[in-house]
Amino acid sequence: MTRIYTLANQKGGVGKTTTTINLAAYLAQMGQRVLVVDLDPQANATSCLGVDKLAVAGGTYEALLGDSNPAAYVLLNERLKLSLLPSSPALAGAEVELVDELARESRLRKALEPIAHKYDYVLVDCPPSLGLLTVNGLMAAKNGVIVPVQCEYLALEGLGQLTQTIERVRSLLFPELTVRGVVLTMYDNRTNLSSDVVTEVNKHFPNQVFKSVIPRSVRLAEAPSYGLPISLYAPASVGAAAYEALAKELLAGDKRH
Ligand code: ATP
Ligand code: MG
Repeated sequence: MTRIYTLANQKGGVGKTTTTINLAAYLAQMGQRVLVVDLDPQANATSCLGVDKLAVAGGTYEALLGDSNPAAYVLLNERLKLSLLPSSPALAGAEVELVDELARESRLRKALEPIAHKYDYVLVDCPPSLGLLTVNGLMAAKNGVIVPVQCEYLALEGLGQLTQTIERVRSLLFPELTVRGVVLTMYDNRTNLSSDVVTEVNKHFPNQVFKSVIPRSVRLAEAPSYGLPISLYAPASVGAAAYEALAKELLAGDKRH
């Protein structure tokens, strides 16, 4: 069965992309067939997987605005055994161009229909906004939204807005939309602040927070400049262990449902 999860949080730099690609890499390493969909015009997931966004022949933009099957744009990373529907700079215009399109909120969902069945997991990486691209991401999230939250002061600020957007999409367009879980990122065990944030987030999202907490790790920040996920860049690092644990936790939870 295909599971489609969308990683969303309109706050910038909270670890959406880092979580998407590292979770994807470990799920693939565990034998799952995985597709990463880069829904962000910044194309960070695309670059983090070693693909030059300026050389992309087509990808999410074409999938959202064209009528063609996006299979033609899916790139396979042989080494990672991981597929990618890449982003390109053209995607920056999509929010505006989509406004006049029919069924503008469900373009991605529709585009994924002919290809999703080829994968066990589809992970959609959203941009840091609550605009039409993220709404398309939410509409495509058949099995739920994964919300990365950075362990820092004011981490909860803005989460209310995200929750409201999820609720609006649920009530107006997609009643089955759920939150699959919250991932705590950039945890720093040298400060009390991080552990306070963990307590707070658990209070706000009871039973919805993944037990695998992602530590702040220089290795995780370095890996993208080599176009590699942490599983290849520094497999023995604490960040690698954390993302591997998160992938196992997700898989185990999914097997139970
Ligand atoms: P945006 O909103 O711009 O798309 P994002 O939510 O996708 O950002 P990332 O790009 O994943 O966030 O992370 C922001 C920055 O923090 C990046 O430079 C990334 O390498 C770094 N980073 C992410 N997670 C960690 C971590 N656990 N430890 C150290 N650095 C991290
Ligand atoms: Mg990102």
